[in-house]
Amino acid sequence: MYQKTGYLSEEELNEIFPDKERIEEGPVAIIECVQLIPCNPCQDACPRTAILPFEKMTDSPVIDHSKCNGCSICMAYCPGLAIYILDYHYTDTTSLIKIPYEMLPLPEKDDEVDLYDRSGKVVGKGKVIKVQSFKNNPKTYIVWVEIPKALYKTARNIKVVNNEG
Ligand code: SF4
Ligand code: SF4
Repeated sequence: MYQKTGYLSEEELNEIFPDKERIEEGPVAIIECVQLIPCNPCQDACPRTAILPFEKMTDSPVIDHSKCNGCSICMAYCPGLAIYILDYHYTDTTSLIKIPYEMLPLPEKDDEVDLYDRSGKVVGKGKVIKVQSFKNNPKTYIVWVEIPKALYKTARNIKVVNNEG
């Protein structure tokens, strides 16, 4: 399905998504990297060895979600924008996602954003909490977005409301 549409189907997503018990425990990385490409900086970057050693350079990364604390370091090293962080219990009613972002203009703190699912459909609205940069990867920013809790598995991309750029 991914090869045809360019995004993961619900069944494919279920195969790589942390289980609800782990999501309830705290921030965790979700790695949507299913193309067999020669790439592994995420594995080298993880200080908790949560991303398991690759047998071949072209393996898809496999993450042990029980070891991951959602620190975001792997995101800063991923050239494919394939990793994001989910903090399910941001507030009683909202979750937080930290997504890699390379579009300009950059969103700003407190911006209202449209939330998109993996297919490009608008599914709701969110709010930018922070825009973070990394020294080792100056082109990629990490945007923290507060989202309705119900969209914790659905919201994956954003666009600033009324931003024609
Ligand atoms: S978020 Fe941190 S702990 Fe989790 S896989 Fe990435 S680098 Fe490792
Ligand atoms: S760094 Fe990113 S693109 Fe490369 S293997 Fe890891 S998740 Fe995939």
